[in-house]
Amino acid sequence: MELIPQTIQAVRDRMAQAAQYAQRNPDDITLIAVSKQKPIADIIAAYEAGVRHFGENRTEELAEKSIALAHLTDLKWHFIGHLQSRQSQEVAKYAHYFHALDRVSIAEHLSNQLTKLDRQLSVFIQVNVSGEATKGGFICHPWQTQSQQLEILIQSIKQIVTLPNLSIQGLMTMAPWNASDATLHSIFKNMAELALYLPTQLSNLPILQLSMGMSGDFEIAIMEGATHVRVGSAIFGERYSK
Ligand SMILES: *Cc1c(COP(=O)(O)O)cnc(C)c1O
Repeated sequence: MELIPQTIQAVRDRMAQAAQYAQRNPDDITLIAVSKQKPIADIIAAYEAGVRHFGENRTEELAEKSIALAHLTDLKWHFIGHLQSRQSQEVAKYAHYFHALDRVSIAEHLSNQLTKLDRQLSVFIQVNVSGEATKGGFICHPWQTQSQQLEILIQSIKQIVTLPNLSIQGLMTMAPWNASDATLHSIFKNMAELALYLPTQLSNLPILQLSMGMSGDFEIAIMEGATHVRVGSAIFGERYSK
């Protein structure tokens, strides 16, 4: 098996190539190494190879790893999993970014907890633009014609922007895992267009970043405008369960 510094270099090379192809600056794209189910030693190896952003999808694992690595003060934790409100305390306490914000109530929960902890959290709003039923997020499929779904998203964002200690960073999506390249291009492109459209309907919104692309599709996501890619198995090897 390849060593972690080598797999990271390979992923970075592929990211740079995709960026070059799309005439984008590779420095505008953040690599999030998804370390879920992987040991602390793997995270340290990736950190030593220059990675500073790590993704986890279970709150207990986030808490445990964040406590164990608290001495690495420039390491940033991204919580990328679905979040139940009874588990939101861990995310408020340990995460720097949350990528799967899918309802106003969880945003309110987090905001209250963050305010008490005097912490800030950057959030990505999860959007389902592919219509695949198993994927979470605000359903917007297709957002150009589903005006009711789009209105729910806009009204929700309107409420989320006002919440203290929470700042909207952008949108996140997950593509179906077995889609063709052409479908992936169209899903990611659709997201990029939605990210440009929303600020025209809402004041107080920053330029929206795009968290999209995983091991199997990050190059296509970068070609379509991803600013954050979440890459697990291409760096750390296969996981043994989902
Ligand atoms: C596990 C996971 C990833 C990484 O998946 P790989 O295919 O291993 O790169 C990315 N995003 C989310 C939300 C995940 O749960």
